[in-house]
Amino acid sequence: MKLILLGGPGSGKGTQAELLSKALSIPSISTGDIFRKAIDSGTEVGKVVGEYINAGKLVPDEIVLETVYQRLACEDTANGYILDGFPRTTIQAEAIDTFDECDYVVSLEVPDEVIEKRLTGRRVCSGCGKTYHILYDEAAVVGICEVCGKELVTRKDDNPTTVRQRLEIYHKQAQPLKDHYRKKGKLREIDGSGDAKTIRDLILKELGAEI
Ligand code: AMP
Repeated sequence: MKLILLGGPGSGKGTQAELLSKALSIPSISTGDIFRKAIDSGTEVGKVVGEYINAGKLVPDEIVLETVYQRLACEDTANGYILDGFPRTTIQAEAIDTFDECDYVVSLEVPDEVIEKRLTGRRVCSGCGKTYHILYDEAAVVGICEVCGKELVTRKDDNPTTVRQRLEIYHKQAQPLKDHYRKKGKLREIDGSGDAKTIRDLILKELGAEI
């Protein structure tokens, strides 16, 4: 199954991609994660994309598309994949339709107030990347990852001003994307404000997959 996950920053795309990847035995591919790894490794691409990401802006389409094409050429995508955070623009959507058309597009619908609370309290492990939240996880308050013992940090783009900018960008771009996939009969809108496993099961049911 080839699946695209749409949703604003903090809508739970990453969590659902991980849960669905396990349930469907296909890799989940996050363009945001690929870019953060490139930044951490100090590659040329990392240097360029870092400036956009830290400013809360979208990375230019041509860089994103090249990154996605390279990743989709890997062998582990033979039985399908989940794209998390891609496409974000109509140009990206049209390009991927031509390259390798998806089966379904799931849009996670979460109110902005809920997203602002989720993101500004999010902490990420500087070692293994596990995420925590200051309202729900003791580890986030202590500041140490309970899996690998490394320090928990706030992602640079999770500060309140950048979060609001990212939401604004998202809303401007999401509508045409959703219209694009609705016209193709591929869009499935799912309430993403509840518990992660309940949302996963809702999605699987919507896709007609076994739970
Ligand atoms: P994410 O982890 O999906 O929230 O992505 C983090 C940041 O990476 C975004 O705020 C963008 O700056 C950049 N990014 C990730 N995916 C894309 C994409 N498909 N198009 C443009 N920029 C992206």
